[in-house]
Amino acid sequence: MKIITCTIACFFSVIAGATAEKGKPNILLILADDLGYHDVGFQGSERIRTPHLDQLAATGMRFADGHVSASVCSPSRAGMMTGRYQQRFGHEANVPPPTHGMDVNERTLGQALKVLGYRTALFGKWHLGNEPKQYPTRRGFDEFYGLRDGHRTFWYDPAHDHDRPGDPKNVEHNGKQVRFEGHFTDWLGDRTVEFVNDSRDQPFFAFLSFTAPHAPLEAKPEDLEALGTDDHYCGLVYGLDRNIGKVVDALKRNGQFENTLIWFLSDNGRTVRQASNHPLGGKKGTKFEGGHRVPFILHWSNRVTAGVYDSMVSALDIYATSVKAAGGDLKQERPLDGVDLMPYLNGKKQGEPHPQLLWRKLECAAARDGDWKLIRVENHGF
Ligand code: CA
Repeated sequence: MKIITCTIACFFSVIAGATAEKGKPNILLILADDLGYHDVGFQGSERIRTPHLDQLAATGMRFADGHVSASVCSPSRAGMMTGRYQQRFGHEANVPPPTHGMDVNERTLGQALKVLGYRTALFGKWHLGNEPKQYPTRRGFDEFYGLRDGHRTFWYDPAHDHDRPGDPKNVEHNGKQVRFEGHFTDWLGDRTVEFVNDSRDQPFFAFLSFTAPHAPLEAKPEDLEALGTDDHYCGLVYGLDRNIGKVVDALKRNGQFENTLIWFLSDNGRTVRQASNHPLGGKKGTKFEGGHRVPFILHWSNRVTAGVYDSMVSALDIYATSVKAAGGDLKQERPLDGVDLMPYLNGKKQGEPHPQLLWRKLECAAARDGDWKLIRVENHGF
């Protein structure tokens, strides 16, 4: 295990962990969309304040070499939702034909946790299929508040939301279009808080899948003012962090925080010019590190010590780690490419979770073997 920093607080949290654990942990998976590697405080940003995420990073584990399994939205989510390289089931690019979504024979994390007694919900972007058979409520989620498509405006837009019934960009709740009020990031945060408040008697899995800071860059004026900027990308990240703070506050108010496993990461690297992947090369859509190496943290009070983990980990590990934490048997699953990270994080297992990681999207491919990287960039610009 390579932990290069650890606060004094983690010593006390380990001691407390012997008595604090009770019942199955809640699981909160928070995903940013197209967030730059450098664009949160805990990654070194000085222009975007993200105090709530910084607090989770300071009291949890930050993965310094954490990756998603693809450098664009839909395949990245397919890998994360199944714990399997998405190229195993033909989901290498956004909206792959002919199904325009993820193979419904694949098992999602929502399905896996639901059979373990969890109340499950998705808030925000799905992007794993627009067809009825691929609808989130048929893919393991009891509740779905969000859009089936990959992006939308952050404000209610009559041109889309009123005049195009059935458009996958519309905001829906369990199959019915709803008219949302205010900024979409706030709306998602509020729905998640409601769900958390209503889930005090049953373990829950909440997938908070923000559309921020993906384009269109439409920040809330109050967030721009609070941040002292006119850069809407920065304002979207600030608003995302502010809403994460709302959810964390709700968990703490309800006494759920200690028993909630919280993941945070981005689905791929930066795309807009306002974002920064510093110091990585490449961006969204490429197989350079800036395409798929992302801000990535795991917070689990009393179970995961505070620090920085510098061996390679993958979003593929979220499935195995979460299912195992929920009491599931990984041997019953179809072959997984991700692993349960907990034995590595608590020192029970030596070595690295992934000596190698692989990426493939059509003619582009890459492999990491420790510090070495091989990239095939045929017909693909930098
Ligand atoms: Ca994305």
